[in-house]
Amino acid sequence: MADDILTGDVIRTRKTHPCGCDEWTVIRTGADIRIRCNGCGRLVMMDRDTFLKRRKAIVTRRMPSGLSE
Ligand SMILES: [Zn+2]
Repeated sequence: MADDILTGDVIRTRKTHPCGCDEWTVIRTGADIRIRCNGCGRLVMMDRDTFLKRRKAIVTRRMPSGLSE
């Protein structure tokens, strides 16, 4: 799987969140990645390496629109 991380990606993690949801939306990318649980809305921040280790699959990827980002 490619190592790219895009804002708006919906990803699945290896471990299920305590709320029972295992899908997250990428809110912010960079040195630190911020993701939001699609089940309870909790925000979690982690570094890129940790994120890539926890990510199991990309569920949906936002299509790039325009030149920004
Ligand atoms: Zn949750």
